[in-house]
Amino acid sequence: MNQKKKGLNTICTHVGEVADEVFKGAISPLYMSTSYAFEDVDVKRYPRYFNTPNQEALCKKLAALENAEAALIFGSGMAAVSTSIMAFLKAGDHIVLQRTLYGGTYNLATEEFEKYGISYSFTDGLRPEDFEIKIQEKTKVIYIETPSNPLLTITDMAAIAKIAKKNGIVTMIDNTFASPVNQNPIDFGIDVVIHSATKYMGGHSDICAGAVVSTQENMERIFQLAKNLGGSLSDYTVWLLERSIKTMGLRVKAQNENAQRMAEYLYGHDDIQNVYYPGLPSHPDHQLAKLQMHGFGGMLSFELHEQLDASLFQKSLQLIKSSMSLAGVESTVLSPTQTSHALLGPEERARQGIKDGLIRFSVGIEEPEDLIADIEQALEKVRSKVVTTSH
Ligand SMILES: *Cc1c(COP(=O)(O)O)cnc(C)c1O
Repeated sequence: MNQKKKGLNTICTHVGEVADEVFKGAISPLYMSTSYAFEDVDVKRYPRYFNTPNQEALCKKLAALENAEAALIFGSGMAAVSTSIMAFLKAGDHIVLQRTLYGGTYNLATEEFEKYGISYSFTDGLRPEDFEIKIQEKTKVIYIETPSNPLLTITDMAAIAKIAKKNGIVTMIDNTFASPVNQNPIDFGIDVVIHSATKYMGGHSDICAGAVVSTQENMERIFQLAKNLGGSLSDYTVWLLERSIKTMGLRVKAQNENAQRMAEYLYGHDDIQNVYYPGLPSHPDHQLAKLQMHGFGGMLSFELHEQLDASLFQKSLQLIKSSMSLAGVESTVLSPTQTSHALLGPEERARQGIKDGLIRFSVGIEEPEDLIADIEQALEKVRSKVVTTSH
């Protein structure tokens, strides 16, 4: 058999599938069993041991997608994040975290670490020096997120990996916004790659799951904690996720194209103040994004001109819904200040550059002309409001 690494869509469609030996069906059969006979004492299959037939099959696909040796699939993105981080830290240890982080991860650090005797530092900026300066003797983990939520900042993965290796530190990345289609951090020396599979892997806003990939050795360490914490995913959802990933390559490429188109349209628009998208040459890290990403992703954010009411704009959209989550085939928007980053408070938001009028846009697979028409009719309503209230 040809062992050459398969291409993206072939991996998405085929790698890891469970063969249906009985009926020769085209897709993986679903094994819902929580109990398996002890045929071999070395293999005790049980859902919370992360080793049912469907769990193992999906993990092979995830590892292949990220050029990793092994993977684990969790009940949520945060189960994947928390289990991975805690597996590498004990009382007395220290972790360096990128300042612009997913809200849940920020809360995990600020609300939980102290009671386990773990200290942490947030970086002041995103340059490699900003990470290096926070390293202490007891630092065990550096944790990054690129592109970040909600401003789509880019962190230099290779530079961070190099600094960490020099200091014997494990690097972790939240790769959710990029998805494995657009970015493979292991190729740049990052050790542990984490995904909220709720987002691009699921892709249809109907699955909550998380994934971690790394070396066999690192995954063994994460597994030892994972089985005690118990954050495994039900086999039915594992099976649904396997199905979703079959089309991930196609979906994400369509979302990349649509997001680029929307970013260019918004960038040139009179009503729009700022557009944040790594695929725009105006993005401060466009060159770095080009270097480390295969595609620029389906997420962008933008600000309306200050006199325009951003919240009325969101309410006036008809096709594009306001929604907390992201990465579905349907386009959605949200206000980070009112939702995902509400708990940070005004000071921390200002520090991260998140303005009250910022709108995060998760671009779906609809026809771009229809998305533009929807935005145009909403802007029209917002503009007319400015005229009437000024009289
Ligand atoms: C949604 C998300 C998470 C958390 O995932 P859940 O599946 O909601 O637990 C973590 N990181 C990023 C970047 C996310 O968007």
